[in-house]
Order: sequence, then structure tokens, then C-alpha cells
Amino acid sequence: MMDLKDLKSIDLSEHFRASEIFYSNQYKVVTIAEESPLHRVQLRLAIRLAHELLEPIRHQANNMGKDSKMIISGGARNAETHKAMERFNPIPPSQTSDHSFMNHYWPLGVGAIDWYIPGFFTQAMEVLYKWTIQNIDPELYGQIIIYPESTHSFIHISNPKSVLGMVGATIKIPEGRKQLVYTRSKGFEPFNGGV
Ligand SMILES: [Zn+2]
Repeated sequence: MMDLKDLKSIDLSEHFRASEIFYSNQYKVVTIAEESPLHRVQLRLAIRLAHELLEPIRHQANNMGKDSKMIISGGARNAETHKAMERFNPIPPSQTSDHSFMNHYWPLGVGAIDWYIPGFFTQAMEVLYKWTIQNIDPELYGQIIIYPESTHSFIHISNPKSVLGMVGATIKIPEGRKQLVYTRSKGFEPFNGGV
């Protein structure tokens, strides 16, 4: 079974380690599946997220503020962290979340992370959100959701469902609105240019 030290030694891309996605700092839980092939599939999904989405956004964040660090506040979930979130999280976890990384409670969840940049408040996060939807091909991600009301405004971004083809599945699921904003009063709404 992998521990935090093992996960820290696995590079997903130049700037991201497996520990950032598969270890919950909040609940002190390793969330990568123990069994193969799911374990390998989950790593592959994380590598894709890091290369196609996290690295370009991180690069842009550095253009906006020198030495900006991208903090992943939510990565892969497992049954244990999902239960903990139901009890303690202000926003209840979805039963069909891409944070499942194709594990047993939602096998079609293709991998998602929540992230923020320390020192970037809502306005700067919104600028980065707009940069992403203007500069990254929407085919490359599933959903991008900004949560402007949290202590740190954060952004959720997921792999596109088309990556299911990458692991041999041929299921076609319709994708909903890709660009959303979440507020406590209104829930999920399409992003229409401002939060
Ligand atoms: Zn999320």
C-alpha cells in the first residue's frame, strides 16, 4: 500500500507530484486505489490533468504574480474522505463527482481537482478563470467551476469525459454546461462573464 512518502516521489509533470492529488491533507488519508489496474488508471488521469490543464494555468498564474504557487485543496476522493465530507464540509460532496477518479462510488468520474493561489483573492481568481476559458480549448476539460464565496476563492477543473476512450471505454455521456459559478444562494449557474 502506498504512503505519503511514496506519492511524493511520483512526478505527474514538471511541477506536480502524485501526493498533491492522492493525499488529503485535511483528513490525512491516501486516496489512490490500492488495486491494479484502477491504481494505474488513476495515475494516468492525474498525469493528464497535470500536463494539459494544471501546468498551463500555473504558468499563467506566474505571469500574473511572480512566485505564485498553485495549491491543490481537493484532489481524488475515496469512500473514507467522501464520508468525512458529508459530515464536515459546508458544501456537500456530489455522488457523481469527477473527484472519484473512476473509483467504485462513481466509476465515470474522470478526475478533477480544486485549486487556489495564495494571495489571489476573488478578483485575481476570476481573471485566471477567464484566462483559462479564453485560452484553453474546451475539448481539453470537462467542467471549470469557480467558487467565489469560500475562504479562498477556488476553481474546480476536471478532465473531459472523452478520456474514457483513453482507458478503453466507449460510453458516450452528454456533457452539461462546462463553465459554471457556484454560490450558496443560487447553487450552480452558467458563468456569464462575471462572478
Ligand atoms: Zn471540485
